[in-house]
Amino acid sequence: MKYCRKCGKELDDAAVVCPHCGVLVNEDALKTTKQSNTIAVVGFIFSFLIAIVGLICCIIGLKKSAETGTGKGLSIAGIIISVANMVLGWLIYLPVLQQLAFAGLGI
Ligand SMILES: [Zn+2]
Repeated sequence: MKYCRKCGKELDDAAVVCPHCGVLVNEDALKTTKQSNTIAVVGFIFSFLIAIVGLICCIIGLKKSAETGTGKGLSIAGIIISVANMVLGWLIYLPVLQQLAFAGLGI
């Protein structure tokens, strides 16, 4: 049995936050949680920059979130942004490419 360093009450050994005063009592558990969804964070950032990289990272992040229980929302948001980014990219570049192709063919 361990004790809360703030209020001194008894705590469950698996406790991350003190149920009596709400202070964080297991910082290691929180660090592990934060590290486990790094791929989701990376994927989310890349979804704005390089959509395909973001999409792949977010899919991995989503699979990982099923095990760790973190980064699910971020992964889903990243996937949506990646797909939207790719669709928007095609909508912008496809007409330009078509015009260039037609111009090249002399039509
Ligand atoms: Zn406490």
